[in-house]
Amino acid sequence: MTKRHWQIPATKGLSFRMETGQVLRVTDIEGEQVADLVAYRSDDFSERLDPGVTMDALHAMKVKPGNKLYSNKYRPILTLLSDTVGQHDFINPACRSEMYELLYDKKEHASCYHNLNHALDAFGIPSPDQHYPFNLFMNTVIKPSGQISVERPLSKPGDYIELRAEMDLIVAISACPCVESACNGYNCTAIEAEIL
Ligand SMILES: [Zn+2]
Repeated sequence: MTKRHWQIPATKGLSFRMETGQVLRVTDIEGEQVADLVAYRSDDFSERLDPGVTMDALHAMKVKPGNKLYSNKYRPILTLLSDTVGQHDFINPACRSEMYELLYDKKEHASCYHNLNHALDAFGIPSPDQHYPFNLFMNTVIKPSGQISVERPLSKPGDYIELRAEMDLIVAISACPCVESACNGYNCTAIEAEIL
């Protein structure tokens, strides 16, 4: 039987298949932990979850239960069913080693970009030039001045989000390895993924 329940260790990534209609629950086990999520159509890797298109289609930077998330081809790819936090990020790209070098002067840092690439490689999905994930639990605050502030996630232990697949998908999730900012509350922890 296919495994349907995983614990993604702190700073690591995971990938798995989802069939149309299946529901994924992603749980922030200890709280204040971001999980970068990407999704590709399983029979055509040129179609993927697109946060920019989703914001365009919804006229919003936040999603609410009942909202559809869209692919780069403007088709519903996931539906948000429930959400105990209500604060996630659609605007930041995946962290990557070059980002840690630029912002924190750290070389060869673990990253969501690497975790997602490594996880997707198991399904033969080529690495893109960058990932633009749905950053679950990430608390990005845009100030009236236009400044962007990444603050501690609002998620408490056990908070979760549920997403229904609207097409057959390959999904990858990275438990973000950033300890340098408030992004993960300065402490990286594990994420749980479960197909209900
Ligand atoms: Zn990250």
